[in-house]
Amino acid sequence: MDCIFCKIVRGEIPCAKLYETKNVLSFLDIGPINQGHALVIPKGHYVTIIDTPDDVLKDMIAATKKVTKAVKLATGVEGVNNLLNNGKASGQAVFHAHMHIIPRFEGDDFKIPWPAKKYNAGEMEEMRRKVLGCL
Ligand code: AMP
Ligand code: ZN
Repeated sequence: MDCIFCKIVRGEIPCAKLYETKNVLSFLDIGPINQGHALVIPKGHYVTIIDTPDDVLKDMIAATKKVTKAVKLATGVEGVNNLLNNGKASGQAVFHAHMHIIPRFEGDDFKIPWPAKKYNAGEMEEMRRKVLGCL
């Protein structure tokens, strides 16, 4: 599989490893938003959260919690974003599912909050019904 994260899992390219279980691996992001930016990936190749089996996702979330706590302590930041991009339009560049752990400090250059839009009358309920129909 010609996937950079699969190559990391197989040990074919190096990573700055932080944590590992049977199902998941965590390492530092090579292009950090802030130093300490880490990733948690499934060892199996799944493209998005939708493709990833629930038991693997549970391990990803548990590892995310553990590494988030460690990154927060190690960097001394007050805030951390956990972010998972699904699909090119969302900003996903590596098509092997991964949770970002992004240490944040006041005034850094990662922009949250985002520009919030509004629902016109009735649109929110219409959207709710659409989503319910797909659950
Ligand atoms: P995304 O835009 O959500 O797909 O994020 C992909 C992330 O993977 C980026 O933050 C990259 O800096 C990171 N990345 C790409 N290649 C490597 C690598 N070899 N080791 C560590 N992180 C990587
Ligand atoms: Zn992969």
